Amino acid sequence: MTAPEGLEILHKLVKQSDILVENFISGKLATMGLGYEDCKKLNPRLIYASITGYGQTGPYRKAAGYDVIVEAEAGLMHITGESDRPPSKVGVAATDIATGLYAHGAIMAALLSRQQTGKGVWIDCNLFETQIAGLANIASNYLIAGKEASRHGTAHPSIVPYQVFPCKDGYLMIGAGNNKQERDLPPLAVDQFKLLAGEILENPALATDPRFATNDARVANREALIQIISDTLLKQDREHWLQRFTGLGVPFGPINNIKQTFDHPQAVAREVIVEVEHPRSGKIKLVAPAVSYNGKKMAVRRPPPWLSEHTTERGRIGPGRAGILVREHRIVEEAINHLIKKKGPVMSLNLDLPTPTDFPAFPYNPPYEIQVELMRHIYTTIEQKKVTIVESPTGTGKTLSLLCASLTWLRDEKDRAKKGKLHAVAGDGADAKDWVIEQTRERVRRELEADEREYEARLAEARKREDLMKKMAKGRVTKKMRKDVPATKQPNDEEDDQFLPESESPRDNEEMYISPALRALMARVESASRSGLGDGEEEPTCTKIYYASRTHSQLTQILPELLRLKLSLRVFSHHPSTNESIPPGKKRPIEDLDTGAEITPCTRTVALGSRKQLCINDELRAKSRDLDEGCRELLGEKGDKRCPHLPLVRDEGKMLDFRDQILATPKDIEDLAAAGRRAQTCPYFGARRAIPQAELITLPYNLLLQKTAREALGIDLTDQIVIIDEAHNLIPTLLSLSTTRLPYATLATSFMQVCLYVSKFRNRLSPANLLHLKRLVVFLDALKKYVLEWKEGRIGKSAIEEKGVSNKTEKVEVMTAAELLERLGRKASGINLLEIEKYLRSSKLNLKVARKIAGYSDKEAEKNGGTQRSRRGEIPPLHAVEAFLVSLTGATEDGRVTFSLTSSPGNGDVELKYQLLNPSPLFKEVVDAARSIILAGGTMSPVSDVVDQLFSYLPPDKFTSFSCGHIIPAENLQAMVVSKGPRGGELEYKAGKQGDSTVIAELGQILLNFINIVPAGMIVFFPSYNFLNTAKAVWHQSGLLDKFGVKKKTTTDKARGALLFAVIGAKLSEGLNFADDLARAVVIIGLPFANLGSPELRERLQYVKRLEQRRPTKKKPGQKDASAELYENMCMNAVNQSIGRAIRHRGDWASLILLDRRYASPSIRNKLPNWIGNGLTVTEGFGQTVKGLGAFYRNRRVAS
Ligand code: SF4
Repeated sequence: MTAPEGLEILHKLVKQSDILVENFISGKLATMGLGYEDCKKLNPRLIYASITGYGQTGPYRKAAGYDVIVEAEAGLMHITGESDRPPSKVGVAATDIATGLYAHGAIMAALLSRQQTGKGVWIDCNLFETQIAGLANIASNYLIAGKEASRHGTAHPSIVPYQVFPCKDGYLMIGAGNNKQERDLPPLAVDQFKLLAGEILENPALATDPRFATNDARVANREALIQIISDTLLKQDREHWLQRFTGLGVPFGPINNIKQTFDHPQAVAREVIVEVEHPRSGKIKLVAPAVSYNGKKMAVRRPPPWLSEHTTERGRIGPGRAGILVREHRIVEEAINHLIKKKGPVMSLNLDLPTPTDFPAFPYNPPYEIQVELMRHIYTTIEQKKVTIVESPTGTGKTLSLLCASLTWLRDEKDRAKKGKLHAVAGDGADAKDWVIEQTRERVRRELEADEREYEARLAEARKREDLMKKMAKGRVTKKMRKDVPATKQPNDEEDDQFLPESESPRDNEEMYISPALRALMARVESASRSGLGDGEEEPTCTKIYYASRTHSQLTQILPELLRLKLSLRVFSHHPSTNESIPPGKKRPIEDLDTGAEITPCTRTVALGSRKQLCINDELRAKSRDLDEGCRELLGEKGDKRCPHLPLVRDEGKMLDFRDQILATPKDIEDLAAAGRRAQTCPYFGARRAIPQAELITLPYNLLLQKTAREALGIDLTDQIVIIDEAHNLIPTLLSLSTTRLPYATLATSFMQVCLYVSKFRNRLSPANLLHLKRLVVFLDALKKYVLEWKEGRIGKSAIEEKGVSNKTEKVEVMTAAELLERLGRKASGINLLEIEKYLRSSKLNLKVARKIAGYSDKEAEKNGGTQRSRRGEIPPLHAVEAFLVSLTGATEDGRVTFSLTSSPGNGDVELKYQLLNPSPLFKEVVDAARSIILAGGTMSPVSDVVDQLFSYLPPDKFTSFSCGHIIPAENLQAMVVSKGPRGGELEYKAGKQGDSTVIAELGQILLNFINIVPAGMIVFFPSYNFLNTAKAVWHQSGLLDKFGVKKKTTTDKARGALLFAVIGAKLSEGLNFADDLARAVVIIGLPFANLGSPELRERLQYVKRLEQRRPTKKKPGQKDASAELYENMCMNAVNQSIGRAIRHRGDWASLILLDRRYASPSIRNKLPNWIGNGLTVTEGFGQTVKGLGAFYRNRRVAS
């Protein structure tokens, strides 16, 4: 009910219903938009029955109602129980039941009233008043006669005998007290006590005993008489006495247990038990309605519902398209699981999805065994809601396997949802012959199909519209939307008002950045784009796959692979065989749509990208330095100044049409931008709008990993599947996303702008605004001064230290946030940064203070004839300060502030940086929310590194990993560690040896040997640029470089058959694709350990070490500590990325030559990918190396 779609469903139900019954605490539903007044507006004829504990008014109106509490509070418990025992409750929830009956009567009366008046009624019914009304004669005794009541057990206060008596084997209720009846009609006219005494108890003297002759006397002598009767009754069993009582007219009744009650001849005669067929439990017995109509009992039309049965049934009224099934499925699943637990084998529906043995959607038949294994692993991981790391070497069809497995699961999940729904409606124990059940099942099936067809038809329409637009676009050159750019208006002093904070602006409606109407519009656009909802638009949502990769080019690889899958997520449609003919690596030409051929529905896909990729406002693109900021500014404009591509709310249909076009045909970013241009609708916001209904969303890392980005896009990862491709980049990305930077120049500009602003508006700002801004000035001033002081110290120091070596230096200091604040001095450290940060972020809809301050400063700059540069269209500098403040205020022990001197000492700048040392917290939010996380990469080794850094908190059974072999036969790869050089010396390229000309000369000889053997291209990776440059200089001098050139062209760019020099971890290694003759050998020189001189690295390593020390499990003897492990892992991660790309397909072959004896150590070897490490050989001497290489290439040549 708290979810918007739930409320939507309820509103629809209210519109259609006669009666609403609720038992929320008074006023609660009104806060949820479901109070009587809300519902009355939706349906004035509604009978709204509120059943509460104490009613809608009065001091107890907010108290919850409990039967026993009200029994106690409203007198019932006081009169219930034995007089000498504590109060007792009634055996059933009598007050609850009575209240229901009162409510029932009231509803019937209200229906009659509505028949006459045509108006609904609000019924206020409650336990408390019901119970008081139920006090009946007890209440009258008090109200009229002023008599307080007391407890009498089963006895009557004023009639004796009138109570329960024990017999030998049970109890009897006897009531015999009316001595007036003697004068009245026979046979009841006889004195009941006389009959009891004489005929039943066979003690007629009792009736004449003056102590018991009259009822008054018996009341006065109650104890004596009760004792006598009890003693007599105890002599015989209950059956004996029942025989005696029968037919004499003395009221009596046995105290029956529940079985005896249902076996009672009257109960049998009146058919108080009915049998109904329950779809899950077979025939069940129920109590029949207590009332007959014209001598007939009402039929029991349906069995009692099971948990959520009607929720799922009524849920269809809401977003009843394909997506809702997923939610329904979960409800059904929960209910069934609950029952399975309770009833065990009775339940037969198994909702678990078994892992398939084959994947018919895979475009190659048959797939390689490792591809099937990988797909099975992915499928199981998703089904079992786990986190996994998978390593699938380049060239093994990783993307295709990931898509195929995850989308196969998604299709099966949809099918399961349908099955669950049908099962929940008709039940698994249903007898197929039962026409009612069959009919219900059939009806639901038809409705589901109709929903899906209806949805498909809508997308087909969108496809046709897109076709038409494309045809039209082909026939003409789309005119660029041009607008007359108004002459720059000279700002004047009055216009300064627009820069005042919202509350102080005297002309909000005129000169503000955004008018209230536009603000409302933006709020709607924003909320609509978040929720995907337009007015009156039902918004289905569904389980989806978020496929993230790091770069745009990696993301563009996904669509061609998707289109090659022989898979449709639609149950009622089929994928065309034509898709099979799309060649590998090619995507379906978008022009195919122009043929008018029927395009079969396929996965609803959305590509999310940045404004830079998707903005179609060319005017803005041409002039804006920052598109995000420029677009935000345009959103704040009104009239024809606003972006023409973002439809107004009244043109919402245009955006929804475009959304359907996006979903109707899978598009990558370029296709999406083109479609947006054709539809003249913003693809950036269009893609956002399509998120809820999309099944596959491709997006760059930052949009997935940053909470703010997810929130802005309306991405809810709950129970969704997240695939992170190229995941070896994940940890560095997480660390960089947690980083905020504040260059000194930005800090200084912000300070200047805030000072200017405060001095201008000092007298017009509210005291609160002024106070916040003054505090900001103090803080910025202190920070600025400290940065300058720090810089002075560094320049002075470096000038001395670096004298004669280099005028370029980089000085770094790492500190905690608390240390920084302490260094700013008492005045600044006493300021509550949280308040300032809150103030800066306080205004909504981009009306941030930062923009106003920057705006005023820009205006002043323009006024001063450009002596100061205007920053219009750029992010306000204060935003960077704000981001830095956010980091400082949220700083944890995982965070560090770094000061860096970044350029030449004479005029160097300082950069302030806040960074998390721990990548895990940022990612944990994703892990906690998602159903399943798949980290995939060509080379994820060492996997332990990822596990330690990201998943150390996960229970072991939640995490799995999978490492694929390669699709190449083993003989296509030669991996060797060369530990000895031609002169027999051990090869080791530590940092200290990298400048040694002897070492470099020997390395040159080694490479020359390799060049002579390797038949085609060869890549040589150096651990650093320094080493590479030094080596090249030495070889150039010795003429060795020329010798290399005789055999192979030397290059630093890829070329067929050439010798390529590269550096591990540098730009070149990312995205390397050296198939076939481009690289028949990859040589890695040394181990690229990071520079331990970096204070930031040292800080991170120390942090990891501290974390390890705090863990309860201590490391085993001889085991490396966590910081050493991390340091080594960082190095091997980089090596693995470089060597993992040499082999691109099954027929490819190459040598991987690791030049350094340290590669032979078990700890380093174990960090290689299995498919390389398993066949790794360590050569004894250089002769063996040369021999081995020669044999490998000879064999390969023969084989090919
Ligand atoms: S609304 Fe869209 S098209 Fe317009 S400026 Fe913003 S991103 Fe560009």
